[in-house]
Amino acid sequence: MFTKILIANRGEIACRVAATARRLAIQTVAVYSDADAGAKHVAACDEAIHIGGSAPKDSYLRWEKIIAAAQATGAQAIHPGYGFLSENEEFAQACAKAGLVFIGPPSSAIKAMGLKAESKQLMEKAGVPLVPGYHGADQDPALLQREADRIGYPVLIKASAGGGGKGMRAVDKAEDFAAALASCKREAINSFGDDAVLVEKYVQRPRHIEIQVFGDTYGNYVYLFERDCSVQRRHQKVLEEAPAPGMTEELRARMGAAAVEAARAVNYVGAGTVEFIVEQPGGYEHPEQMKFYFMEMNTRLQVEHPVTEAITGQDLVEWQLRVASGEPLPCKQADLRIHGHAIEARICAENPDNNFLPATGTLHVYGLPAGTMFERSDEGVRVDSGVREGDTISPFYDSMVAKLIVHGATREQALARMDTALAQTHIVGLATNVQFLRHVTTSASFATAQLDTALIPRESAVLFNQEKVGLALATAAMVSDLLVAEAAMAQKANIHGWIDPWAQRDGWRSHGASNRDFMLEFHGEPHTAKFTRLHGGGLELSIDGTTAALHYTPLTNGALDVRYGDLRSTVHLYKKGEVAHVFTAQGATQVVAIDALAHAGEAQAEGGRLTAPMPGKVISFAVKAGDVVKKGQALAVMEAMKMEHTIAAPADGTVVELLFAPGDQVTEGAELLKLEIAA
Ligand code: ADP
Ligand code: ADP
Ligand code: MG
Repeated sequence: MFTKILIANRGEIACRVAATARRLAIQTVAVYSDADAGAKHVAACDEAIHIGGSAPKDSYLRWEKIIAAAQATGAQAIHPGYGFLSENEEFAQACAKAGLVFIGPPSSAIKAMGLKAESKQLMEKAGVPLVPGYHGADQDPALLQREADRIGYPVLIKASAGGGGKGMRAVDKAEDFAAALASCKREAINSFGDDAVLVEKYVQRPRHIEIQVFGDTYGNYVYLFERDCSVQRRHQKVLEEAPAPGMTEELRARMGAAAVEAARAVNYVGAGTVEFIVEQPGGYEHPEQMKFYFMEMNTRLQVEHPVTEAITGQDLVEWQLRVASGEPLPCKQADLRIHGHAIEARICAENPDNNFLPATGTLHVYGLPAGTMFERSDEGVRVDSGVREGDTISPFYDSMVAKLIVHGATREQALARMDTALAQTHIVGLATNVQFLRHVTTSASFATAQLDTALIPRESAVLFNQEKVGLALATAAMVSDLLVAEAAMAQKANIHGWIDPWAQRDGWRSHGASNRDFMLEFHGEPHTAKFTRLHGGGLELSIDGTTAALHYTPLTNGALDVRYGDLRSTVHLYKKGEVAHVFTAQGATQVVAIDALAHAGEAQAEGGRLTAPMPGKVISFAVKAGDVVKKGQALAVMEAMKMEHTIAAPADGTVVELLFAPGDQVTEGAELLKLEIAA
């Protein structure tokens, strides 16, 4: 076995590989780009080497730098992860030339499976079933059109060098073929530098079912069963599960044997995945009629490998390391069994409601369900993540933030765990698909395993622009949170004999306001809310004029039990500026509390004059002359119309003079204090 390996990747997969290496007492070397200098994968490894700029072409794709890093650190082998150099035959060759073991298949196998058209010709010879289509070398447009006509519409034009769901065009009728071909070729040359295409029958409502295979250097092969990756958007996987619902023993054995044949045909070694497109002529009710066709082979570890690990109890990275170091496969086909059911969700920084637009930003809050790698914990939850709270999702790499993997005795149990785990995933700072994933996993199609690649468009009515937490609960949660903060401050004052209400800029004082008005923004719409403390001690909250009783109880885990009218929910709330991020078992939402008078103060603060926005009483000043203040810092509290309002600093500056004292009555427009704005 190796004593030191270099991991030529980043993010969750680099951390994932490092975890197994550490367990096997293999030292690890990380490589990193400028953007990743402080990344989690760097911390996860024993050593780290900087290899260049942030763009992949300046770092993670520079294989001469990576090989030099391995040689300089004395690593014996390189694990490429997925993406980047993992399916680059030249890199595999260069490793061998440098005397390093490439933890993956021989470069000849990468080459054989690298182009979809060529690999299909090979598979045809090996007797692996193919989708009816044309995968020849002749790319004459007239010939391609004739082939499409022969295959029968709809057809799919695919870039032979394509990957990641790119370079594909579905064509419904002969008249559209020429234009689709031209556009597909344009995308192919731009994305892959190769415009060769193949044409195949477009399978209707197909399932994507793939087989995990493994080979060793002694010619042994096994398959570690299947994964269903039918839930896709833009031909990219969103959810993956194992085993495939409805799979029969007989079909599994046939698909497994076909996948092993595919691997054997190219003298495959290590972890590989044979992807099949599966037709369901008998519909969901008759999975036994499923027909499978070879689609492509991915000659690397797959993103979704953890579901296979969950159901087999095997560590596939350990298998990769053992096989690459010359050991035989850890077990035989007959030793492998399926235990229960596992589902993986890809958590991505993107906005599903805005056409899955990728998002960048800082993970201000990054709360994940507790999970332990490889341990069959009672909760059956595993989290593979390449980032930590406070990290930034940069525009340079993939939008995948983490993978959530659940395992249960049955699919139902796994589904329930997935929903709970997603509800416990609290991310603040950028858009993610977490709520969308919850909607998908709880949709009728997914819940009843009516799986096919059209699931997302079919269920779109319940997947997009869903709001499971309304204005009322969000506002009740926000007000409850403010009251809890106030109570905590009052308690601190009692214990220490002093109070510091200015630690918070929301203007709440320890003795508690009896009334407060809020202006809110919810989904871009303005709303008003009014909170009242009744004489008997009860609380009332009016939202847009509708009043109900409010009750709340802080729970030990930082959550709040909030009751408002008929609503009741356990809420986690995080404040970021004026935005309250509300997470509940039903879903998550945001509400913005606009401190109208603070804003009015801002508007009137030009030239350092801070004026009273309305007639009222000065309650207190939070600053004194000479204080240096930051933008947004609380300066004074005013009370008007039985409400308290915080006057905040409109910009960084220095307090020159206070013009009133606490208790003074002021008229509208009166200057409260002089502030010198920092240049
Ligand atoms: P799979 O077949 O394993 O689902 P794809 O073939 O779509 O995946 O790509 C593999 C994965 O590798 C993608 O899901 C993506 O997360 C990752 N990936 C691909 N290219 C890159 C890249 N340039 N940088 C980082 N990650 C990448
Ligand atoms: P990539 O290299 O981008 O992963 P694949 O050939 O694996 O490309 O196809 C990606 C996805 O496109 C599949 O998972 C499936 O959803 C869809 N797809 C591919 N071939 C067909 C087909 N013949 N009919 C219908 N859908 C297909
Ligand atoms: Mg694929």
